[in-house]
Amino acid sequence: MDTKRQSILNVDDYEPGRYARTKILRQAGFEVLEAANGAEALSMVASKKPSIVLLDVNMPDMSGYEVCRRIRTNSATATTTVVHISASNIQTQHQVDGLDGGADSYLVEPVAPEVLIATVKAFLRARLAEESLRRSNEDLERFAYMVAHDLNEPLRTVSTYAQLLQKGLSGKLDENSSQHLKFIVEGAGRMRSLIQDILHYSQANRGEAELKPVDMEVALSRITASLESAIKAGGAALTHDPLPVVLADSRIEHVLQNLISNSLKYARAGSPAEIHISARSADGRWLFSVIDNGIGIAPEYQKAVFGVFRRLHGQNIPGTGLGLALCQRIIEDCGGSIWAESEPGIGSTFFFTLGHVS
Ligand code: ADP
Repeated sequence: MDTKRQSILNVDDYEPGRYARTKILRQAGFEVLEAANGAEALSMVASKKPSIVLLDVNMPDMSGYEVCRRIRTNSATATTTVVHISASNIQTQHQVDGLDGGADSYLVEPVAPEVLIATVKAFLRARLAEESLRRSNEDLERFAYMVAHDLNEPLRTVSTYAQLLQKGLSGKLDENSSQHLKFIVEGAGRMRSLIQDILHYSQANRGEAELKPVDMEVALSRITASLESAIKAGGAALTHDPLPVVLADSRIEHVLQNLISNSLKYARAGSPAEIHISARSADGRWLFSVIDNGIGIAPEYQKAVFGVFRRLHGQNIPGTGLGLALCQRIIEDCGGSIWAESEPGIGSTFFFTLGHVS
């Protein structure tokens, strides 16, 4: 294992204990940094970016729990592995509190040197696996972005000239040829929406949401205005309860818009869409639901529809299969979750949660 690239920050106000731990780890080949109190630990976590922080729980300036909380709430350090180390005679509840507060593990002194080394190795292994996964994900997203971006230009040329031809040759082509031209224009239009969706999806980076108060009532009125013609065309009825101001990223409007436009698209033939949006406070968060009376989703697909390019229904309904995947990304970026419940032939309800404005 490449232990040199990853460093460990050993935090303890008790110097002999800190010294002994550092010695054990250095002898095992690890790069070890030291901090003697909470404030020093936080500044080193931010500047040195250690992979693992071994964090004493009782320190005079700041408890290890508080240091852990601050590491977790700073987006630049949130993924650091934190292992609390506490003196003996600790109560079970303290361990539970430490882990619930965001620590990855909780060791109680005396910790045998072999256990300390094995614990550090296990976490470094997990971090290496996580990092390589993250890197390959980022590479894939960058790749998708580049491909989609570079496809845009030639597509614009095809689309523009096909439309010019269509205009210029209007009335001069036989039925077959004008039909072929129509297919080219429509195909280019579908490809444009696909490319736009891929670009949006690959740009929606996780963990970079800027959460601020968003008035969902205002968002909904903008959405209703932009979907007005689709609502009217299908004779749909859109109703809603009073909607709250939530803590979210501005892209949250896109989520609501996507769910509503799906409810319009996946209406049952002969039954105009009835869509109802509601929000209630549950378990300290806002729980939104978008309820429709559409074609529904079979139980085995209710999770799968959030995957990229997963489409259940006919090619005759326009779509790219990226809408719900993007919704899930945005909601998770806002710290919430999204899921569907549905009964085929009766309708679907899409739920999502968002934070309260404190
Ligand atoms: P798109 O609508 O572009 O195909 P989405 O990711 O938004 O992609 O949705 C994925 C699939 O989930 C859709 O193709 C459709 O089969 C199904 N789906 C989404 N919303 C609904 C709904 N309200 N009712 C029934 N099926 C739905």
